[in-house]
This record gives sequence, structure tokens and C-alpha cells, in this order.
Amino acid sequence: MERRNIKQMTLEELEAFLLSLGVKSYRAKQIWSWIYQRHVTDFASMSDLSKDLRSRLEDLASIGTLAPHSAMSSTTDRSVKFLFHLDDGLQIESVLIPERHRMTVCISTQVGCALKCRFCATGQMGFRRDLASWEIVEQVLAAEEYMANAEQEGMRRISNVVLMGMGEPLLNYDQTLRAVRVINHDHALRIGARKITVSTAGIVPAIDRLAGEGLQVKLAISLNAATDDLRTWLMPINKRHRLSTLIDSAKRFVETTGKRITFEYVLIDGVNDSRADARNLARLVGDIPCKVNLIPYNPHRSTPFQPSSPDRVQAFRQYLLPRCPAVTLRASRGQDIGAACGQLCTDSVKRPRRAGTSRRPAAHRRAAISRPRQKK
Ligand code: SF4
Repeated sequence: MERRNIKQMTLEELEAFLLSLGVKSYRAKQIWSWIYQRHVTDFASMSDLSKDLRSRLEDLASIGTLAPHSAMSSTTDRSVKFLFHLDDGLQIESVLIPERHRMTVCISTQVGCALKCRFCATGQMGFRRDLASWEIVEQVLAAEEYMANAEQEGMRRISNVVLMGMGEPLLNYDQTLRAVRVINHDHALRIGARKITVSTAGIVPAIDRLAGEGLQVKLAISLNAATDDLRTWLMPINKRHRLSTLIDSAKRFVETTGKRITFEYVLIDGVNDSRADARNLARLVGDIPCKVNLIPYNPHRSTPFQPSSPDRVQAFRQYLLPRCPAVTLRASRGQDIGAACGQLCTDSVKRPRRAGTSRRPAAHRRAAISRPRQKK
């Protein structure tokens, strides 16, 4: 009989499993505490369980574990990129981002991604498979484990989790939500729901479903363009969920949850960073309780794009400031180790450098990008 992975069970499922063995359900909380709070990976170490129970669990169950295959540290900031080898040989990445007052881990929910956003390295990989909930949670546990062993000053527990790594979380909805509940659970990782951010490219029915879950998690919509033509060109998912329906779903999310929403906007040189782009964006989201998070593009070898210049970033930001409820500018972290936003891509499937793109001067590169025409 195949042993059941305890880490793929909710607390209620573990209680039911134990009851089926004739074991009282309160043992489930003890087991969760060993696994998620004391990072134990074998039943033999669970000293408050009877020897008989430990031995039966060893026969009937397992504790799935993903240890990072490698951890690469940034030389410019303290971020760390982890590479995990999954049981089937596929690979994923996640990123630990230490900041002054918080310790964030950015985790993946899929191997690759089917949505093929033009600017994103993960999107160039294509889709391999969904992650199971335990594989999503393991990335947080591994980051905590790393911090416990690290001697870097200020390293503490994980305070924030962002589901912005590889993949579209809302296309792996059930496993993502199971993982979020474990990360948030009082008997597991105890990270407050308000400190968990789910990011989406704009899967409208799933945004509505998430709004009705009664969770306090934050939602970030990766917007990146304020007209359908440009957004469809950058993010093909926009063909299925047009901007008007996406914005309507964002408004419903705010109304249902009472929570402000974040719109992520990656600024790409010559593509979406003009004054007209800023004007369109302000018109689109200016009356929604939201934060617009501007992210200078992080270049990587699988796309021809370049980041907007600091002057263009500032001009874009200055235009938005009086017209949107809140505007922030995200500092790039982990760029030197390929860990920044949009750069995650496991080496086994990394595309070769495309001839004639990243080595060409910026002006030629802009001409080669040829974004769709729009009114000035
Ligand atoms: S930006 Fe997100 S949704 Fe788009 S391809 Fe990359 S991982 Fe997928």
C-alpha cells in the first residue's frame, strides 16, 4: 500500500486519517506542530507520540520534504534564490527577500506557466505541471530552515509570503488555496492572512471565487498595460479576460472583501512607459481603492526588453501620484542572481539567447520590439 504524504493533508484530513487508525484526533495538532513549527521530517522524532503510533505512522504515512538543491545569494542585496529538484525531476525556484522590517518569501505555484506573458522568463518556459499544495508550502518551510541555519544579521521568521514566483496561482486554484490555508493556520506556519499576497495575471472567474473565500489574503493583479491592444500583446490572457471585465472583477473583489487591491505595472522601455500609457492607467484604476506598484523591468536573456530609464520611471510615477490612491515604486531585489520579478526560469529549460536581441544597442532593440500602435 502506498504511504500517504501527511503534508498533502489538511488538518481535518489528518484527523480523519488518524481516526481511521483508531487514534484520537487531537494527535493531528501535535503532528502538525512537529512538522510545521519544529521542522521535523521523521515520525521517530515526535517524542510525545507513543512508540506504537510512531511505528504505525512510519508504515502507513510519509512526510514529503523538498530541500533546496542550491541557494544562490545576491551580492548586491541579501536576497537568496532557491532551486528545488522535484521528485519527478522538474525544477522550481523561490526567492527569500530580507528587508528591514520584514522577511518575505516569493514562492512558485506551477512548474513553468501557460500564460506566456511576453516579458516573463517563466512564461517562455511553457507549462509543465501544477504544484501540489505540499510542494508550495515546502518552499516557505525551506526558507525558514535556511534562515535558522544562516548567520546573517537580522534573519528571523518568515513574515510575508507572496505567491508571485513561477506560474499563475489562480490556474492552480485548489492546491494554491490548500497551501495558503496551511501557511496561515495557527497550528502550522502561523503567517497572518494579511501578510499573504496572491498575484494573478487576471483570471476573472477565479478572482471572484477568491473574493468569496472569506480569507483576508491580499490580491495583486499584474496589469502592465491600460489598453486592450497593448495588454493582449504583452499578456495573451487578455484575449480571454479583457480589461473591462478584469477591472470589474477587481472592483467586486474590493467591494466583497473590503480590501484594497494592488495593480502591478512593470515599466518596459519604449513599450508601456509613455505619458499616454500613464494617462490611460490613471483613467483605468484611479477611482478604485488600490495601490499601483511600479516595477522597473528586470531584463533577462529570453526577451528583448529593457527597463525604463530612471527619468521615465519618475515621470510616470509623478503623473500617477495625484491621480491614483497610492503609488509605490518597487526596488529591484536579486537581479544579479536572476531572482527578480519576471526572471525566474529553471536552468533545465532556459531558452538559449536569441540572436540579435540582447546584445544590440537599445535603439535597435526598441525598433525590433514594435509594440502595437496607440494614440499619443
Ligand atoms: S508573469 Fe506570471 S502569469 Fe505571466 S507568464 Fe510569468 S508567471 Fe505566468
